[in-house]
Amino acid sequence: MPARVYQPSGKSEPGAIPSLVVVCAVVGAVAGVVEALIAHYVISLFLIFPLVLGAVVGGFAAKRIAKGKIRAPMAAALAGLVGGFVGQLSVHAVEYYEFRSTVSSKIAGIAAKSGQSPDQIIDAVLVHETGHAGLRGYLALQAKQGISIKDEGESDDKGIKFTGVGAYLLWIVEFLLVMGVAALMAANRARKPFCESCKRWYDQNVPVVSGSGDKKDWSVVVQNLERGDFAAAVAARGQVSPKTASTIVLERCSQCDSHDPLLDLKVTKALNTKKPQTSTVYRTLLHPDDARALLAAVEATRAKAAS
Ligand SMILES: [Zn+2]
Repeated sequence: MPARVYQPSGKSEPGAIPSLVVVCAVVGAVAGVVEALIAHYVISLFLIFPLVLGAVVGGFAAKRIAKGKIRAPMAAALAGLVGGFVGQLSVHAVEYYEFRSTVSSKIAGIAAKSGQSPDQIIDAVLVHETGHAGLRGYLALQAKQGISIKDEGESDDKGIKFTGVGAYLLWIVEFLLVMGVAALMAANRARKPFCESCKRWYDQNVPVVSGSGDKKDWSVVVQNLERGDFAAAVAARGQVSPKTASTIVLERCSQCDSHDPLLDLKVTKALNTKKPQTSTVYRTLLHPDDARALLAAVEATRAKAAS
């Protein structure tokens, strides 16, 4: 019996996925504006901001996924991509808006004398400098001048500058970071185990039995679990030591016993220190009958120990 992997059903509550896309796009837009304002008035943190923006979109997406019972990781990832894209786009949109309004107020006097509107002058300068007006011209101008990843307060010769193709690559990397973080967080949330008969996420983590954290011991437990011999698996668990332990944990639905619980064999090391480290060394879905057999085997050894 090889380990069985939990497969999300791809289902969700009616309308939950369209609403997730909307949530991601709106959160992305709002968070993007906030990020651009912080970057403009307070501080700009190179590559940290895209990660934070992605995490904000991903965090809101995860909440909506939990609420909408979305078990469709691909759809969740796509919604995260959309939200991340909108978010980073709104960062650029706010920068562009700030650029136009700042320059407009500075050249208002000149514009009044020349008989042209500030907007006309800005676009004329952009065309003269880059060959393009509007947002495209603004981005080309930024790329031409170079994007410094240091604060504006520092002198220009300090820090790294991205010019030309480098500037465009930097923007692409920022987009990929925001979109990637948001999509990963959303997909991971949608991949969590779900009870299809009760229509709820698994809500219980039950430590079933603990034993030795030495590999030579827990690998025998794994062999017996794979063989479906739960009594032998429980018997082979060995003793918890002051330093290490292994624990069989069942992640399951608290409302029924007709679902397939997720069995994790976790090994914790450095128990005697302030930073114990736990890792999952084996994971499989169990059939309901197998879960019952496992719990009965644990019960039997407890009863034997008590008598
Ligand atoms: Zn259930």
